Amino acid sequence: MADEYPMYALSEEHQAIREAVRAVCDAKVAPYATDVDENARYPQEAADALQAADFHAPHVPEEYGGAGADALATVIVIEEVARACVSSSLIPAVNKLGSLPVQISGSEELKKKYLSKLAAGEGGFSYCLSEPDAGSDAVSMKTKAVRDGDHWVLNGVKRWITNAGVSEFYTVMAVSDPEARSKGISAFVVEKSDEGVSFGAPEKKLGIKGSPTREVYLDNVRIPADRMIGPAGTGFETAMKTLDHTRVTIAAQAVGVAQGALDYALGYAQERQQFGKPIADFQGLQFLLADMGMKVEAARQMTYAAAGRSERGDKDLTFFGAAAKCFASDVAMEVTTNAVQVLGGYGYTRDYPVERMMRDAKITQIYEGTNQVQRIVMARQLLAGIQSRL
Ligand SMILES: Cc1cc2nc3c(=O)[nH]c(=O)nc-3n(C[C@H](O)[C@H](O)[C@H](O)COP(=O)(O)OP(=O)(O)OC[C@H]3O[C@@H](n4cnc5c(N)ncnc54)[C@H](O)[C@@H]3O)c2cc1C
Repeated sequence: MADEYPMYALSEEHQAIREAVRAVCDAKVAPYATDVDENARYPQEAADALQAADFHAPHVPEEYGGAGADALATVIVIEEVARACVSSSLIPAVNKLGSLPVQISGSEELKKKYLSKLAAGEGGFSYCLSEPDAGSDAVSMKTKAVRDGDHWVLNGVKRWITNAGVSEFYTVMAVSDPEARSKGISAFVVEKSDEGVSFGAPEKKLGIKGSPTREVYLDNVRIPADRMIGPAGTGFETAMKTLDHTRVTIAAQAVGVAQGALDYALGYAQERQQFGKPIADFQGLQFLLADMGMKVEAARQMTYAAAGRSERGDKDLTFFGAAAKCFASDVAMEVTTNAVQVLGGYGYTRDYPVERMMRDAKITQIYEGTNQVQRIVMARQLLAGIQSRL
């Protein structure tokens, strides 16, 4: 069905990546998506297939043994995986989120050590910013890092950590200078095997049930000082820079799940008969389908435009990353909800995939900053005159 859509002005390389990911997803991701959701289990088949095809962390540069995908290629990978199974798309997405702080601000030694392991499939990377009492207001975090000779000692609780327990590596933001607010936060690489690291029970969620979300407990975790990412006090800035880039990948998840729901609804509408003809023949439904297609396409174009800015590191990336994430996730919620409507009563049951897509789409409006927070970010950029001008 998606082949009936216009081809985007993608390079041959990007188009080839889309086709390659779609083939992997058709064979090894989509067939398990319902079971993964029903049983709230880790999508191991997808994890194995993505790793075998080098799509598990495509953004890692070639010099560290990675696939060296640019921001648009990474977006295409995540979009295509999300079209089949949003839970599985968290694998490449969170590997980028967790490791980008190292890539942006880490020492050459940290990059060599951890990006190489990630690329080689020796362990995934999670990102630990949020805490029980510090969500949108992340600067209010309480996790502490105290210097002790050649080491740092970390104590605290990180909440809502995607792939916690599965990942081997964790970028942890912690307060190293309580007086300095955001300038007193530092970033560290913590390993799952470090003494004092443990995990809470998996959260029971509305959607993305195959993506484990757990608390991470840091109990006197003593790590070598060279595991600090960048200089002391730069951790919050690194965390925010990271989100500028990775919000584009959340937009990609949103576009993917919306496309998956639209494709399913289009097929269903042409098969389901009422009043002696396919429901697709009714203009009332055609208008709904047309709006769905129009909005998915607008979200995709905005996401790809933001990916270009991410690749180039343009100064208006902060605006575009927030705008793409906010717009695409609102579209995903609307389009998946309308896909349920196209299927009528059948859409409301677990016998069809669109209700899962609707539940999964919801998270894209919440994580990596809620859409209220994205609007705050965008307004600040607009008022500062940073958004690009025509
Ligand atoms: C499944 C899942 C996976 C996640 N994965 C990760 C992860 O891997 N790593 C990580 O660090 N975090 C992760 N998060 C955390 C996520 O980023 C936070 O949930 C999110 O930032 C919101 O924080 P909160 O839940 O504390 O909500 P709150 O900050 O308490 O917000 C509650 C409501 O108030 C609104 N609000 C808050 N402040 C304002 C304001 N100034 N103006 C207007 N409205 C406002 C919010 O928009 C929201 O609607 C994950 C969350 C979930 C649910």
